[in-house]
Amino acid sequence: MAKSLYDPKEARGIWVYLEQDRGKLESVSLELLGKARELANPAKLKVTGLLLGDRVDGLAKEAIAAGANEVLVAEHRLLRQYTTDGYTKVATQIIVERKPDILLLGATPNGRDLAGRIAVRVRTGLTADCTDLALGQDGLLSGEVTGFGGGILAYIKCPNHRPQMFTVRPGVFSAPAPKTSRKGKVTSVPVELSKNDVRVQVLEHVLGEGVDITRADVIVAAGRGCRGDFSQVRELAGLLGGEVGWSRVPVDEGWVSRDCMIGQTGYVTRPKLAIICGISGAFQFTVGIEKAETIVAINSDEEAPIFEQADYCVVDDMFRVLPPLIGAIKTAQGGNGGR
Ligand SMILES: Cc1cc2nc3c(=O)[nH]c(=O)nc-3n(C[C@H](O)[C@H](O)[C@H](O)COP(=O)(O)OP(=O)(O)OC[C@H]3O[C@@H](n4cnc5c(N)ncnc54)[C@H](O)[C@@H]3O)c2cc1C
Repeated sequence: MAKSLYDPKEARGIWVYLEQDRGKLESVSLELLGKARELANPAKLKVTGLLLGDRVDGLAKEAIAAGANEVLVAEHRLLRQYTTDGYTKVATQIIVERKPDILLLGATPNGRDLAGRIAVRVRTGLTADCTDLALGQDGLLSGEVTGFGGGILAYIKCPNHRPQMFTVRPGVFSAPAPKTSRKGKVTSVPVELSKNDVRVQVLEHVLGEGVDITRADVIVAAGRGCRGDFSQVRELAGLLGGEVGWSRVPVDEGWVSRDCMIGQTGYVTRPKLAIICGISGAFQFTVGIEKAETIVAINSDEEAPIFEQADYCVVDDMFRVLPPLIGAIKTAQGGNGGR
């Protein structure tokens, strides 16, 4: 591989790319700041946020409260909307000038897009979709990734190129409680960008109507065992003020879209309560739910692997368990039910 654009000996600190969408920081950026702070403290490293956009400097405060020592703010009219060209050019310039040792990005659609581009421009390696990060005594960050369909866990380091780049999916780490008393520096960075640098023009911004299950406190999830009938699962989720999720089988069967699919190729969630109905508990599913505070599993097969993850195990047909459970909750809620 070609040498990176700067020497590992010159590289300093942990950077977090602060992804924002129309003036709001993505939750994964705050989660990564929290993790970066945790990694930086014992090694006495500086945590820097990299914020690109147009009139976004107000977000720097939020990043400092989440753990950044400094926020580099690059503002330009042409950075108002994310474009691969514009963001790659500006981020790469700043990285090459200021030489971070480690760069973390959220594995969101835009974060993934940007990370790959930057890695190629600065000639470094990129470890994508990490499920954990650990900093060694040697200063090398190790990214945990699943390989071969979840059959192995691999720990990937980037010893000779800088920055060491990693993407992490939303929900893998929890966002720290903001400390508004934290002090930090906000540095405005000059941006050189012209219309010719940006080949894409964003004409319209269309928002989907789907729910964000990564933020749900309660998830009721169903798999093949529901045989395409989500009515009771939806009713239970509604009564508990939660959201409905599913394993990959309902998607493959065409019963539902990918919107709320949980797992390795779906979302990583961390609800307070997860009720898992008719899902076997394959590794590729459980990586998306294992951070739940309490897991209740309902499965007709007492040998189902999901029971190894569950705090409460119900061995029975979900269509026998759910109606009395729904009835009992309705009674407890005074017959009102629902949100
Ligand atoms: C690279 C790769 C990535 C993948 N990514 C994902 C992912 O992100 N998310 C994901 O979910 N999967 C993923 N998978 C698929 C995963 O390996 C499993 O095949 C999938 O999770 C199984 O879904 P399931 O548990 O709904 O179905 P099954 O494994 O078929 O299990 C159905 C379960 O329902 C139980 N059951 C049946 N009827 C009832 C009933 N009436 N009441 C109660 N229990 C009942 C059965 O006992 C069984 O345990 C991936 C696979 C690969 C190879």
